[in-house]
Amino acid sequence: MEENEKMKFPMEFTACPVCGSEDRVIENALKEEKALKPGQRAAATKGTLLLTDNTGALTRIMVPAISYTTDICAKCGTFYVTRIDKSQVSLAENNNGGKNIPNIFGGKG
Ligand SMILES: [Zn+2]
Repeated sequence: MEENEKMKFPMEFTACPVCGSEDRVIENALKEEKALKPGQRAAATKGTLLLTDNTGALTRIMVPAISYTTDICAKCGTFYVTRIDKSQVSLAENNNGGKNIPNIFGGKG
């Protein structure tokens, strides 16, 4: 990526990075169960990563964050990210004042 090139969100990854198949285990299973509502996304796991050090974050109402969803390739079993988005999340509305949301810096936070 070029230095001045900005990443564009949301990033969608519709095919398995290993075999190229677009069949996904969780998505297909939810469709078979008719449990996937229109506009709803399947996710094996999903998460939110705060793009801020926790220092001072709890005093702010909204902080930038990356959210992602994953699924599993139905052909080769590869676990991969299907969507990445960037947004502002409300610490007040998220899990215990944001304390359960990991930030990207690792260590204690
Ligand atoms: Zn695959």
